[in-house]
Amino acid sequence: ILAYCCLLESALGIPIKEGRIRYHADNVMVHVPLDDTGRAMVREAVEKARQLRQSIHRPPVTDNERLCARCSLSPVCLPEEARLVHDKEWQPIRLFPEDDDRQIIHVLEPGTSVGRTGEQIKIARRHQPLETVPARQVAQLVLHSFSQVSTQALHFCGEQGIGVHFISGGGRYLGSFDSRQGSIQRRICQYSAFADGDTCLELARRLVACRAQGQRKFLMRGSGKLRARDTRVEQTFQDKGKSKGSERLTKAISQMKAVLKLVPQAKSLESLLGYEGNLAALYFDALPDLISPDAPQEMVFDGRNRRPPKDRFNCLLGFGYALLLKDVMNAILTVGLEPALGFYHQPRSQAAPLALDLMEIFRVPLVDMTVMASVNRNQWDVRDDFDVRGQQVWLSETGKRKFVEIYENRKQETWKHPATGYSLTYRRLLELEVRLLEKEWMGEGGLFGQLIVR
Ligand code: SF4
Repeated sequence: ILAYCCLLESALGIPIKEGRIRYHADNVMVHVPLDDTGRAMVREAVEKARQLRQSIHRPPVTDNERLCARCSLSPVCLPEEARLVHDKEWQPIRLFPEDDDRQIIHVLEPGTSVGRTGEQIKIARRHQPLETVPARQVAQLVLHSFSQVSTQALHFCGEQGIGVHFISGGGRYLGSFDSRQGSIQRRICQYSAFADGDTCLELARRLVACRAQGQRKFLMRGSGKLRARDTRVEQTFQDKGKSKGSERLTKAISQMKAVLKLVPQAKSLESLLGYEGNLAALYFDALPDLISPDAPQEMVFDGRNRRPPKDRFNCLLGFGYALLLKDVMNAILTVGLEPALGFYHQPRSQAAPLALDLMEIFRVPLVDMTVMASVNRNQWDVRDDFDVRGQQVWLSETGKRKFVEIYENRKQETWKHPATGYSLTYRRLLELEVRLLEKEWMGEGGLFGQLIVR
């Protein structure tokens, strides 16, 4: 109110003695006198705001936490998480936005046209009635294969903050159209943080440990189930010997533990890459042992292969990683960081290094576990869902549709964040993790890379 009075004084050139504000709910009128002290306070506040505008650093979070509950900036500012960083006993309440229930539209059928009509996205599939979806109900538009999108629809998606992503017919993430640029200030902070080799190495150590611990925990879970199954088999057949698969799993789990101990001491990104390769080899070598004996023989695989995938399991993993890369890119663009500059992956391929970095955290919970569960539940039709061409295996259109549904359902499941202690969907976790990464160079770090499968 003081600022308004000063503005009026300056605009009208007349002295103003007081301002009044009426609280209708309480039927109270408050008089705010304007004197020289008040004018000085306003000048000081304006000067402070000017200085903040020049700065690329955000001011620290307020000591008065009651202000944050209603502050529109809390999803960006993450004040509760910042307090947790400085006080390990702090129990953050969730100020992060509600789970996003807007649709992610996957256009899988080649020859489909996506356009705009009024405030709606219209989708014209061959031989099907026209579908229209209000733009406010759409979060992302994912165009697979050779579906078409009109310039008008692209402009509209840009205006509405709807991410448009492109996936090739072979299931490779191609890129995104997104007009959300983020602020240059936060990108300058990101550039300067990632120009520091020690910062990159520390973050990369955490990332590699996070992914490998998740992989190891997943193998341990499978190993527990396997032991339970073997016990039943032993009881049935009086077979006292352990299964070969169980031995391989146990060995991989203990070897991964040994390598994981070396990760925090890695002196360079190169040695970290070596440890990561070692851990991945151990993991993928043992992963086939988690496949249920009741799963079809065609779904069994023997280690990781890609470009092109040579078996159905790797085909599912590859498509899942492409969808995950798309979602991580969407989260980075939503937050406003620069995807082309990462702290671990180097810009070698067309994929954005920061997106490749961040997707490491989610590979196991969002893709590996999802694929394994679907295979063990016999959700795949080995003929209709796949397109086998010699040594290459691709998902058919029905297979892609099924995968998209399974994957999107998984993203809606909730997970209690181990560091912040509150639950949110994987879909929201993707964005939260990008925001926690940003906090690493804002003096409020330490929470990034803690998402480890239990
Ligand atoms: S959420 Fe951030 S900007 Fe808003 S009142 Fe709290 S500390 Fe200040």
